[in-house]
Amino acid sequence: MTTDFACYQRRLDRLAAQITESGVDGFLISHPVNVSYLTGFSGDSSYLLVGRQRLLLVSDGRFTQQLQEECPEVPVHIRPPSVRITDAAVERVNKLGWRSVGFEAARVSVEEFERFRELAPSVAWKPCRNLVETLRQCKDADEIQEIRQAVVMAERAFERFRLTLGREDSEKSLADRMEALVRAEGAVSSSFPIIMAISERSALPHCPPSPRQLDDAELLLVDWGACGRHYRSDLTRVLANRTISPQLREVWSAVLNAQQRAIEVLRPGIEAQAVDAAARAVLSEAGFGNYFTHALGHGIGREVHESPRLGAGITTVLQPGMVMTIEPGVYLPGWGGVRIEDDVLITEDGCEVLSRLGRTPDELVAAW
Ligand code: ZN
Ligand code: ZN
Repeated sequence: MTTDFACYQRRLDRLAAQITESGVDGFLISHPVNVSYLTGFSGDSSYLLVGRQRLLLVSDGRFTQQLQEECPEVPVHIRPPSVRITDAAVERVNKLGWRSVGFEAARVSVEEFERFRELAPSVAWKPCRNLVETLRQCKDADEIQEIRQAVVMAERAFERFRLTLGREDSEKSLADRMEALVRAEGAVSSSFPIIMAISERSALPHCPPSPRQLDDAELLLVDWGACGRHYRSDLTRVLANRTISPQLREVWSAVLNAQQRAIEVLRPGIEAQAVDAAARAVLSEAGFGNYFTHALGHGIGREVHESPRLGAGITTVLQPGMVMTIEPGVYLPGWGGVRIEDDVLITEDGCEVLSRLGRTPDELVAAW
C-alpha cells in the first residue's frame, strides 16, 4: 500500500536539517525501524543514506517489488546477492563522494564499523546517538491514530480473554490464547512476548510464561499489547479471583494512587524524572517504596520501548505528541505483584489516557 509520501518527506527534511549541525556530509541509517519511519519501507536488511540533497535506499532483490509498492518515491540501489549490505552501502558512500558520515552508534557492530573503515579509510565515520529516535518521540496525527487502534485491539482481546479462564490453564497456555485473541482483533501480532504471571510469580516484573496453573491462585497479572501495521500498545492489568484479600486491596490501591498521581502531573514542560518521582513518592508514603523496582514508564510507538523513559535521572522535557506508558508496580517477593499500565498521550495542556479498561479490583474480578 502506498502512503502519502509527504509525511516521510517531512521526517527526512528534519533529519537532513541536522547534517550541518553534526558536521557530516550525510547519515547512514541502518536500524530497520528507523528506515521504515523515514521511508515507509517495512522490510529489513536495507540501509538508508540521507544527504542534504541525496537520498538512497540500499536494498536487495528480495525487496524489489515491495519497495515499488511501499516507497516508489525513494531512489533505490539493489545490491547483487554476492555483495554484503555493509559493502554495498560503503561503496555508495564512496560514489557519492562523502568525506564524513554519521552512523547509528547503537545499531552498528564493531565488526561492521571496522569494515566501514577498511572499505572507506579516508571517510570520517562519526558515531551518532538517538538521531532518528529523537525525531520519533513526538507522534503526528496519523501515528497517534494508529496507536489508538492498537490500544483498542488490545482492550477487546482482554475483554474476551478474561471470560475464558479455567483452573487448568497454565501461564503458557494463557499467553498463547491471548496472542491468538490479539491477532483475532486485527493485530499483526502482540507487541512483545506476553507476560502471564500467576500469584507469587507476579513478583517477577518480567516473568516468563511457565507451566504453573491457575488452580486456586489469588491473582493473574497480564502484560500484553497489540501491534497494528506499525504501531504498538502496551497494557498491564491484574485479574483477581473472587475473594480479594486485604493485602491485595492495600497493594492495589497504592499502585492505583501512584498511577493517578503520575497522570495528574503529566503535561508538556515537565521533566520525565519528575513524573517518575511523583508516582514513587505515593508508593513510598504507602510503605512500598522499596518494592517499586523499575522506571515508571516509557515511550511507545513503532517499538514497545522508545525514548523518553520516565525514570530517575532522565531530564527530557515532555512535549505534546509523546505517547507514554504509566506503569507503577509493587512486587513483594514470595507473595506477588501488582502493576497497572496504561498508555497516555501528552496533549497541549495535559494528557489523555488512551486506554479505557477498568483499573479497580472490583472491576477486574474473574472466575477460574
Ligand atoms: Zn507492559
Ligand atoms: Zn511497558
